[in-house]
Amino acid sequence: MSTMRFGRRTYRNGEVPQSILAEVLPPGCHGTSRRSRAYLRRDAAESWNRAVVQVEEDTGLRLTVRGWTRTLVEQRTFFFQRYRRGARSPFRDYRKYDGATYGRVRGAAAAVPGYSNHGWGLAVDVNDFGGVGEFGNGRRCKAYPILKNHGWTETEGRRVNEPWHLVYNPTADQGAGRRPARRRRRGASTAAAPSLKPRRPPTIKQRSRRHAWNRLWKEYLRAQGVFDGDTGPAFGASLTEATRTWQKKAGLTPDGVVGPRTWFTSTHGVKVGSTGAAVKIAQQVAGLKGKDVDGVAGSVFATRWKQIQRWLGVRADASIGDRTVAALVRKG
Ligand SMILES: [Zn+2]
Repeated sequence: MSTMRFGRRTYRNGEVPQSILAEVLPPGCHGTSRRSRAYLRRDAAESWNRAVVQVEEDTGLRLTVRGWTRTLVEQRTFFFQRYRRGARSPFRDYRKYDGATYGRVRGAAAAVPGYSNHGWGLAVDVNDFGGVGEFGNGRRCKAYPILKNHGWTETEGRRVNEPWHLVYNPTADQGAGRRPARRRRRGASTAAAPSLKPRRPPTIKQRSRRHAWNRLWKEYLRAQGVFDGDTGPAFGASLTEATRTWQKKAGLTPDGVVGPRTWFTSTHGVKVGSTGAAVKIAQQVAGLKGKDVDGVAGSVFATRWKQIQRWLGVRADASIGDRTVAALVRKG
């Protein structure tokens, strides 16, 4: 078992707490399912998130990962799937663990539990970066030189023949301390990229007379499957109840009042190509009016939302994710 100093504390491999981890962007697009959330040690996540913005800007590739921080239990599971105590390894790969020799009998190499860079939250396994030994993979060849500048190293991956395995080395990170939002804002001031303050929808609640907004909120909750009442303009008790149900599901205070936090949160997940009531709300927040509020996120939507995201200081991709919603709640 090895240990690591980070900040002013010492951590054991595979036991790094959530408090020193940060999420890998884009949220909820990782794993083999492309739907998992991924976490790395704070500085590694910051670097990765900044690197993938540049990779996308320079190459058009969107990177996701299928391996990130691993607990000791996960490391053990991995190891024992592939290595057997005392076994002869057709790969000639032998590891010492717990005083015994283990031979790899199947699968790719795995670190001895307690000694993995995944256990520190400092390694990623990148999706679609080639199979075993395929270091010439096209996506990898385009993206790796950029990742390298941000401190992502391939030495360990080369050693075990895994093109997808990269390890963060803070001292090799040439972009450390430069956050992408700040970089973009600096760029914005010279290139005069326009930014736009989001519009704050009115707070509505039971007996509210903002009829158009009441209707929109009903439409949204209906689409969310939590409201099946009338489509009329009134905000009644059943809508309050449905609002509470939705707020609970969204992790908000279930007070039945539709204020900025609730409105902004309802736009989560909307991006170019989305349709429906959530898009209409996002279009309203973007200051669009009349026939432009059509529930279809097209090019006008994209332009406006990128401007809003610039104003918020988050990545301007017209995709409303966790960071955009959090910034809206904070600053909008
Ligand atoms: Zn790995």
